[in-house]
Amino acid sequence: MDTSAFQAWVHEASLLITEHATRLTELDSAIGDGDHGINLRRGFQAADDMIEKSESDTETPGAVLRTVGRALISKTGGASGPIYGTGFRQAGKALGDVTEVDAVLLGSALEAAFNGIQQLGAAQLGDKTLLDALGPAVVAYQAAVGEGGDLAAATRAAADAAERGLAETIPMLARKGRASYLGERTIGHEDPGAASTALIMRALAMVAAG
Ligand code: ADP
Ligand code: MG
Ligand code: MG
Repeated sequence: MDTSAFQAWVHEASLLITEHATRLTELDSAIGDGDHGINLRRGFQAADDMIEKSESDTETPGAVLRTVGRALISKTGGASGPIYGTGFRQAGKALGDVTEVDAVLLGSALEAAFNGIQQLGAAQLGDKTLLDALGPAVVAYQAAVGEGGDLAAATRAAADAAERGLAETIPMLARKGRASYLGERTIGHEDPGAASTALIMRALAMVAAG
């Protein structure tokens, strides 16, 4: 994936989140404060705008992701802003200044995003957060690469796993963030952040498929 493919990922993610913003907000109304779709749409549209207008350095894949991270941290409200922002920044750092990203390097970037988010928010797998979609996605991605899969195959496996991970958040009890205040009432609902992570991973797979 070259720089323009990473820019296309951000654009596709912004479109998908905008399209699904109402559903994300409804999920967050059930177990949180009903703003997840609004928060993320604002953040991704700001990131997409910054890239389109080249308002900051977007000359390499890593720079694109670091710009997304900054935009999400400054423009997205709520817990998800710093959480996603950190994920994109760490992924961008892992890419360094290369101009072309292969399947192995993208795997390192996804791992860096997961680790950065876990360090920031201290959630464990099973706590009903976006890590319950991102974690399985990273594992499936690495397994696909290990089996000789290319970037398109690995990102497709990751997106599929993120969607399965999202479904697996339904019976979970929320232990982090706002949802944790609702305790048992969170059982029986998808986690909104896991739902948005599934969309972001699907956008990546769409772009990698070409
Ligand atoms: P807020 O809860 O501040 O309103 P959002 O509604 O935008 O923020 O985001 C909520 C989502 O953030 C949750 O569905 C969950 O996936 C994610 N989240 C919350 N806390 C954490 C955490 N500590 N680690 C990872 N993800 C988290
Ligand atoms: Mg919320
Ligand atoms: Mg909020």
